[in-house]
Amino acid sequence: MPSDKRKAASSAKAPGAKKQKPAPLKDEKRERPEGWLQKDVAKQRGETDLSCNQKRIRFIADTQKIKQGSEGLLYWMMRDHRIQDNWALIHAQQLAVEEKLPLHICVCLHVPKSELSTLRHYSFMLKGLEEVAKECKELDIQFHLLRGVPGEVLPGFVSDHGLGAVVTDFSPLRTPLQALESLRKSLPEDIPLIQVDAHNIVPCWVASNKLEYAARTIRGKITKLLPEFLTDFPVVRKHSYTATRPAKPVDWSKTLGSLQLDGTVGEVEWAQPGTAAGSAMLESFIDLRLKHFATHRNDPNSAALSQLSPWIRFGHLSAQRAALQVQRFGKNFSQSVAPFIEELVVRRELTDNYCFYNDNYDNIKGAYEWAQKTLKDHAKDKREYLYTQGDLEKAKTHDKLWNGAQYQMVTEGKMHGFLRMYWAKKILEWTSSPEQALSIALYLNDRYSLDGQDPNGFVGCMWSVCGVHDQGWAERPVFGKIRYMNYKGCLRKFDVAKFETKYCPKKL
Ligand SMILES: Cc1cc2nc3c(=O)[nH]c(=O)nc-3n(C[C@H](O)[C@H](O)[C@H](O)COP(=O)(O)OP(=O)(O)OC[C@H]3O[C@@H](n4cnc5c(N)ncnc54)[C@H](O)[C@@H]3O)c2cc1C
Repeated sequence: MPSDKRKAASSAKAPGAKKQKPAPLKDEKRERPEGWLQKDVAKQRGETDLSCNQKRIRFIADTQKIKQGSEGLLYWMMRDHRIQDNWALIHAQQLAVEEKLPLHICVCLHVPKSELSTLRHYSFMLKGLEEVAKECKELDIQFHLLRGVPGEVLPGFVSDHGLGAVVTDFSPLRTPLQALESLRKSLPEDIPLIQVDAHNIVPCWVASNKLEYAARTIRGKITKLLPEFLTDFPVVRKHSYTATRPAKPVDWSKTLGSLQLDGTVGEVEWAQPGTAAGSAMLESFIDLRLKHFATHRNDPNSAALSQLSPWIRFGHLSAQRAALQVQRFGKNFSQSVAPFIEELVVRRELTDNYCFYNDNYDNIKGAYEWAQKTLKDHAKDKREYLYTQGDLEKAKTHDKLWNGAQYQMVTEGKMHGFLRMYWAKKILEWTSSPEQALSIALYLNDRYSLDGQDPNGFVGCMWSVCGVHDQGWAERPVFGKIRYMNYKGCLRKFDVAKFETKYCPKKL
């Protein structure tokens, strides 16, 4: 978490608590006509012919040589659902061109039976993929939507289509890593399986080869490597080799309708899926909100944040693209650019590091020893309020601010970053054990937040409940040495009544 957030609402002694509340922001008009960013980006792409840095690439299977006599090359798209600004696709296309092969992209669609399989998430994902498929058509790349678990459907698909190599992107989470391992085991030995980190600016395994303790231990490593990795992207071009076996067209609305999803967690209005909408959100951030990021980012009533997390989470927007554009067009707001890059690059890439190098990224065993001990020491402390998961889910607590934040998350699929910390810490305070608190925080965050089920969410909850990437603080009941946040701290920080009036639930 950012250091000033850390100081903000924690205790009366915290230095940041003495800061004055920022003045409310006035509505502003944009000076440039909308759509300028996409045009500028297209021009930048046309001006570079860089190829993918080899350090972004890992060979997962033993063989590295593309199978000769094959009929095409596959990019198995897992995490980064976009065409342009995608190093995995850039690399796949380069390999296909070198071998004079057609290029295929596939996504494996599998909906686990889970409370996290919601209409909100799958609709956003599928609509983003519909845009991907449309772009593929224009670029003569075959897009296949496969139904099933990758380990089961991919090997047959690869052999049926005579594919000579599989390129994929990178996620540090358990399910995609297991899928990768399962594919490695079932692919024929002469087919290379190549992974490209298309999500992080500095590839996760290059930034660090170990679990980092905190932002301060990874910041220097990432910053030192930015000149090498924070580069422009070359364009993904119209592919020159046409497939003899084209992909079946996808009926997107029928596909969405056929999935077993929880429709009670519905689509949100403020975030339209896809790369174009993600770019538009980035553009509006640069034009309207970036200048306020330095001063108002901890005020949930102010429009000062980028709001980019859903598009980054689903890979519709590349974080590298966001960093490049903000640096390029934010020259007049350097005080905002620096903390934004800290969040977007250092804090975000730290979460991939945590999940990649810590198998227990979503349970208490993943916390540092001091944190596990202090939570255990205070496990039996009397809780002033005790709520069930059902009470919390329905925003039925005594705290109107908490209820408002929960209500916004349930209805709009988002919660302000500052409130997310307060929200999760209160769950620790109001439930019977840290294990239960963590499990409820993860469940609610991942079920309702559009950007949920992401390393940022695992680490956000682990930071709040278990002190991950944090330090020990003055000991107190229930929390032990885990950092505390309270309502009074929020009152000092922003206009709590205004937020409560806007969001305190009518009924959930
Ligand atoms: C309890 C808790 C749960 C969280 N759950 C999620 C989640 O499910 N998904 C998610 O993307 N983020 C999560 N975060 C991190 C952070 O709150 C959000 O990324 C941020 O609020 C998203 O809003 P924004 O895009 O306007 O962020 P901005 O402040 O504009 O930041 C830009 C980008 O930087 C990254 N970022 C910002 N803050 C953090 C952070 N603290 N750690 C890592 N990366 C960060 C995000 O990709 C974000 O889109 C959580 C934090 C906490 C404390």
